[in-house]
Amino acid sequence: MAQEFAKPFYNSKAWRECRASFIAKRSALDGGMCMTCHMELGKIVHHKTWLTPENISNPMITLNHDNLKYDCQTCHNQEKEGKEIEQPRYFFGENGEIILIKPIDE
Ligand SMILES: [Zn+2]
Repeated sequence: MAQEFAKPFYNSKAWRECRASFIAKRSALDGGMCMTCHMELGKIVHHKTWLTPENISNPMITLNHDNLKYDCQTCHNQEKEGKEIEQPRYFFGENGEIILIKPIDE
């Protein structure tokens, strides 16, 4: 799921064209296989340098084929899980104490 700040970008014509031409390039090279495992067909185009509010308007990051990677669903999910551990999630308990929620598979 795209983050809120990136939604207008993912809906833009520039991104859709960039993504389509990247997929066409990969298909011509190796039939569009996943660039991580090379076992499954690619499904998701993702940015190697993740989009942030700071770089979202920089086409050298957002629309640069060198910053794109074609992944299958499995590999994409694994990469995402690795990134999301950075942010600890917590809530406040009955007495106002902070309770950390550990990632499920830890
Ligand atoms: Zn893969």
